[in-house]
Formats: sequence, C-alpha cells, structure tokens
Amino acid sequence: MNIKTNYHTHHELCKHAEGTAEDYVKKALELGFEELGFSDHAPSRTLKDNARMDFEDLPVYLEDLERTASKYKGRIKIYKGFEIEYSPKNHDVYDWLLQKVDYLALGQHFLENHTRKFDGNYVFRLKKGKDLVTYAKIVTEAIFSGYFAFVAHPDIFLSQIPSIEDNSDALRAINMITQAAAKAGVPLEFNANGIRRGVIHKQGKSYYHYPRKAFFKQAEKHGCKIILSSDAHEPDNLHDYAIDEAKRLIDEWGITIEEKLDIRS
Ligand SMILES: [Zn+2]
Ligand SMILES: [Zn+2]
Repeated sequence: MNIKTNYHTHHELCKHAEGTAEDYVKKALELGFEELGFSDHAPSRTLKDNARMDFEDLPVYLEDLERTASKYKGRIKIYKGFEIEYSPKNHDVYDWLLQKVDYLALGQHFLENHTRKFDGNYVFRLKKGKDLVTYAKIVTEAIFSGYFAFVAHPDIFLSQIPSIEDNSDALRAINMITQAAAKAGVPLEFNANGIRRGVIHKQGKSYYHYPRKAFFKQAEKHGCKIILSSDAHEPDNLHDYAIDEAKRLIDEWGITIEEKLDIRS
C-alpha cells in the first residue's frame, strides 16, 4: 500500500501542532504525495479548550494555505479544510466556513459543544453505555447533515472500553455509525495519531487509543469507505512509525483503503 495523499493535516495556529503550510508541503513533496488536505482545528464560539485556532487567526490560516497552494501549483494538489465538532446549533458556522474552504472533517472531541465543562464530556473518557450511544447519535446526525467530507477518528469513543465485544452499548454505537456512513457514503478515517498516543493497558488488554479492530471490521462488513490519515501535528508525521504501524494493522485486519477523497473544489 503506497498512499500518496493525506487529508488530515494540522497547522501551528491551533497551538498544539508545529509547522506552517509550506513546512508540510515541502515534506509531502519529499514523500512524493499527490494531494495534501489541511484540516486544522477550526475556531469555536463555545469550546474554550485552547486546542484550536482563534477567530482572528482564521484569515492568517487561509492566506497561508492560499499562498502555499499557488507557490506549489502543478506540483501537488492542496485542499483547504477544517476539523470541527458537530452540533445541530452550528449549521450557520458550517455554511460560513464552507464558503472559505473545500471541505470539513468531523472531529467530535466532546459530547456537548455548548458548555464550558469538559469533564465527563470529553470523548476520551467515556465509559457509560448511554454516553457511547450519545456519541454515536451525534456522529450519525453529522454524517447525514451533508457537511462533512469524512469522519476523523470515528472510534475515539472506545478508548476506555477494553472488551468491545462484551459491551452491547459499544456494539450498538459502532453499528449506528458504520451503517450511517455506509448509507451516506461518508468515509471513515483510520487515524494514525491514535497510535502515536500510545498503548492503553486495561483489564488485561492492550490496545492503541485508536484505531480499534472491532470498529473497522464492522465498517468493512457494512461496505464503508475508509481512508488512512496521518492526523499530522508536525511535518514528519506525514510518514512516520505510526503510519507504518497503521498500514500493518490495515493488512492484518483485511481493511480496504480508498486512496483519494472526493472533494469538490
Ligand atoms: Zn490536534
Ligand atoms: Zn486532527
């Protein structure tokens, strides 16, 4: 598998990534990439987690992408995007952003976007069955909203669940998301950054934060489109040990990967 694309690339403006657009493009060219999509964390009116760009940096981001795209025109196709949470209250925001960029990636890091309380709301910490199903409901609604080009780390909500096969709510949530994605034709992302986050050892099991086999076997069974992303937070992430490990898992689990994302531009 020799994938020459990545549609989940960050930018230093989100305050926890390194590198400008040109830094990533130079690395992508070195690797022989044909397409590079930037999807840095969009600013938010309601989430004050300090892990996304500020509103006043939005034009700085767009100018950096546009300047870089024209400088490297003909050598690599560059797409402009954002990674953003879904809320039914935010359709105006998605319409506004889609006037400026080519695509939005759904990155659901919180259950409730209109709150300042992050505890119990942060999708890395979900344990209760009802919260797993709530996550799946939000993601399903987002998939059918038509705003998103793909779902970033769709299995992020399973990181506290060592034995997915014994958890009926987790299985129900996986089914909801994979069936919706298959029906709507919205790709699910096999995200290498969950490998960089390391291995979780819990209740005698060891697994990466994500990707999770039980999720992707079900996605494959339902005929979902699946893309591989670096979720690069520094230029070297475009091809690192986590990408190699993700490719090894894809082979081992028998997952089919789409190399290119269908983006209007
Ligand atoms: Zn990030
Ligand atoms: Zn990301």
